[in-house]
Amino acid sequence: MNLKSIKFGGTSMGSAESIQECAKIVKEKINKSLVVVTVSAVGGITDKLIEIIKLARKTKPRLVKSKVIEISNIHKQILKNLTSNDEEAENLWAQEFEPIINKLEAISYGTSLVGDLTDKTEARICAFGEKLSSLLMLLALEKIGIASQRIESERIIKTDNNYLKAKVNFQATSLSSKKILRPIFLKKIVPVVTGFIGKDTHGNITLLGRGGSDYTASILAMVLNANEVEIWTDVNGIMTADPRIVEDAFSWPSLDMNVMSEMAYSGAKVVHPDTIALAVEKNIPVYVYNTFDNAFKGTKITKNAPHAKGIVTSPGNTIITLENTSIINGVGFVKKVTSIVAEHNIPIDVCATSEISFTISIKTEDYSKKLLKILESFASVKVKNNITKLCFIGNEITSDKKLLAGVFTLCMELDTRIYTISVSASGNNITILIDQNKANIILRALHKKFLKEEECSQ
Ligand code: ADP
Ligand code: ASP
Ligand code: MG
Repeated sequence: MNLKSIKFGGTSMGSAESIQECAKIVKEKINKSLVVVTVSAVGGITDKLIEIIKLARKTKPRLVKSKVIEISNIHKQILKNLTSNDEEAENLWAQEFEPIINKLEAISYGTSLVGDLTDKTEARICAFGEKLSSLLMLLALEKIGIASQRIESERIIKTDNNYLKAKVNFQATSLSSKKILRPIFLKKIVPVVTGFIGKDTHGNITLLGRGGSDYTASILAMVLNANEVEIWTDVNGIMTADPRIVEDAFSWPSLDMNVMSEMAYSGAKVVHPDTIALAVEKNIPVYVYNTFDNAFKGTKITKNAPHAKGIVTSPGNTIITLENTSIINGVGFVKKVTSIVAEHNIPIDVCATSEISFTISIKTEDYSKKLLKILESFASVKVKNNITKLCFIGNEITSDKKLLAGVFTLCMELDTRIYTISVSASGNNITILIDQNKANIILRALHKKFLKEEECSQ
């Protein structure tokens, strides 16, 4: 039988009404195919858990406690709206939700007393969002007569011990998925899997990185040989740019996997990048739907789909420029810099060289004074913060001379300095690094000039 791996994002899990909408979507599918559901945390909850972690590191136990209460109240309210009466809500709260909230409080309060919080504990705290939201989805499904079972994904998704962005062990994950999920399918029960979470070989909780529930859904699709992945989110599929910034962004009915992969790795938040890489590998189509707009037919992401273009911006980058005369005709300077950055476990994003300088960009959150000190020991270093990376993405886009000229002209007209430019050899990405405060203006102007719905219609 056909199998769909369906994932509901944070906004879709954000209120009793939207969770009920998700449950209805599942109901429509189960007559025609087997379904495995993956859920994100209720919208905003993972951010709150991260705030708890920050407060715990600053030894602020009182503030930690009040954040836990906030999280508790949000779930209590949704639970109340999903149940028929107060007694039912109270009973469910006491039996199912309270023990989880108590655990969250114990771990976060305890660590906040000492202020000592490792990545291992951070992963453990962040995982509470999905543990709670999955209970809400289970209830909504039960209320409309769908037999379902909650599966904590650490039982299935096996990873290494890189706690916050773990690598999946596909062989072990495949074995456990089949062992745990197949009997559930046979009983015609819908498994509801907590997204984002895995477990290392020592039994510790790990995470798949921010936005990782999409990835959970595609991992499940891969190991279970599903026919497709469905990502249900809060916008009309994959659009030419983030609709929150570009009002006239429009949706693609279909999109090439490689273009989507480039968009996701460039920072388009709508789909976790590893999700697409996996789908490309296994040739599993990914559909992106809008939970809040039934009329929208979705974006279908497949191999060799018609050409499409998009612009992605991602703020919060730091440019580091190293100058040293030994770069001229020298051997090993670039290797030295990249090795040092790698030792700090920092991914390098864009890079550029001249005869006497080597420039890299990294995420600002990865930048540290410690790194600067080491680099300064052998080169003169300039650091520029508040940088946005803007990527224009599309098949063979780099051969579009008009577009390249247009990028420069627009930056000139809008008095915007391009710090670094990268034109990818694969032909599908033109990246510029510009000041963060100019990025949205440039994005909108580029979109207006080069992405017109009538010209791009497929
Ligand atoms: P979810 O909680 O459903 O996983 P996310 O917030 O992770 O949702 O991703 C959806 C958001 O991605 C949208 O609300 C939109 O603002 C943003 N986004 C960024 N780039 C794009 C794009 N090219 N197309 C669609 N949405 C985009
Ligand atoms: N809840 C996690 C996050 O906010 C995972 C996800 O939503 O996909 O990053
Ligand atoms: Mg997401």
